Amino acid sequence: MSTSPSPRPGLREVGPYDSPQLDVAVRLNANECPAPLPAAYSEDLAVAVRELPLNRYPDGEMRALRDALAARTGHPADGVWPANGSNEVLTQLLQAYGGPRRSAAVFEPTYVLHRRLCWLTQTELAERRLDPPFRIDDEDIAWAHGAGVDVVFVCSPNNPTGTAQTLDAIAGLAEATGALVIVDEAYADFGGERALPLVSDHANVAVVCTFSKAFALAGARIGYVLASPTLVDDLRRVRLPYHLSALTQAAGVAALRHADEATASIDTIREQRDRLVETLSRIDGATVFPSQANFVLFQPPGDAKATWRALLDRGVLIRDLSDVIPNALRVTAGTAHEVDLFLKSLQEVLA
Ligand code: PMP
Repeated sequence: MSTSPSPRPGLREVGPYDSPQLDVAVRLNANECPAPLPAAYSEDLAVAVRELPLNRYPDGEMRALRDALAARTGHPADGVWPANGSNEVLTQLLQAYGGPRRSAAVFEPTYVLHRRLCWLTQTELAERRLDPPFRIDDEDIAWAHGAGVDVVFVCSPNNPTGTAQTLDAIAGLAEATGALVIVDEAYADFGGERALPLVSDHANVAVVCTFSKAFALAGARIGYVLASPTLVDDLRRVRLPYHLSALTQAAGVAALRHADEATASIDTIREQRDRLVETLSRIDGATVFPSQANFVLFQPPGDAKATWRALLDRGVLIRDLSDVIPNALRVTAGTAHEVDLFLKSLQEVLA
């Protein structure tokens, strides 16, 4: 008989990262693309997978995928680096540029994984709370400089507020701090300015993108960073061997071959987002935040948790963010039909 091993100090005070995956009619809680993959793309992917030599390790340099991403973004392939979702890209960036006795700045409220990855990589956290309209200004830049951080996270458009930051603010952060500025652009296909043009003359800016949202490929787990070749070299030192499977690489290459079809829903998603903002704004006592992403943050009249629960009882799952922002809920812009069902259920709940 022996006792169970003791984990890392503090581990059991941290809960697992879970977003509920419930079997409901309307899932508007995870900012996924509501449309399934186009048939021609699925077919092409199936053929590509069938031909893979899976008895061999995949291409560790991920050449075909990096070349295809370079062609799509106009950024040189030696500055492109994919991984299993942008979450893994962010992890690798912190493994390389954060870590013990190093620190990272986050502007709250933002994507909760940023702070969680700091904990995971033992990177010290420096936090600053932004108030509506959640824009980074000169005082925030001065704060980041004063905090002497090694890494700065900027999420643009930001999850969960939907706010896009200006290129001036991002360049200001890069120039004032000299830190690695990680621009998380998971939602940039839906709005806001892209920070890629900053990368060529700011070697400390890294732009992180994902296939999970506008490319409708959350299930494939593909993300990538656009940065300097030196930064990519540093990521080679921390990644696990062959971190991106041949299946994932093939899915990414096929997605880029079908980029126009894969991203065909972007305009309708934006329309549904704007419709959500407009309709929610007309509800007495509700506060709605403008959004450049594929979701909308709002504070309903009355109790958010009770509203969330009552929506779920009607088969509509959205995100309860009241632990992060007082009384706030976030709803993903789904199909017109899903948005209809959400709005109808909300009306019933609030009646
Ligand atoms: N960044 C932000 C801001 C996100 O909201 C998400 C998804 N919730 C991610 C990154 C993670 O994306 P991926 O699926 O590429 O890991």
